[in-house]
Amino acid sequence: MSRAGGQPDPLPPDRLAIECRYLRRTIISGRIDGPVATLCQHPVRDGFDCIGPFIEDLPTACLLWEPKGR
Ligand code: SF4
Repeated sequence: MSRAGGQPDPLPPDRLAIECRYLRRTIISGRIDGPVATLCQHPVRDGFDCIGPFIEDLPTACLLWEPKGR
C-alpha cells in the first residue's frame, strides 16, 4: 500500500521484532557477535537470525512478522 503521491506507508510502529511470535531468544556460546541469539522460528526462516532491529522502538520491516498471542 502507498499513500497518495506514491509515498510508501510508514511501518506500523507496533510491529516490533521483540514482539514477534516467531522470535526465540536464547544463549549460544561461541557466536562471533556474542552469546545472545535472536532466532527466527517462522517456517520460511527457521533457524536464521531475526532481521530485527532490536534498537529502541524501531519497527521491523519483516513481512513475516506476526504478533504474539494468536
Ligand atoms: S525474522 Fe521476521 S518472522 Fe522471524 S522472528 Fe524476526 S520479525 Fe519475526
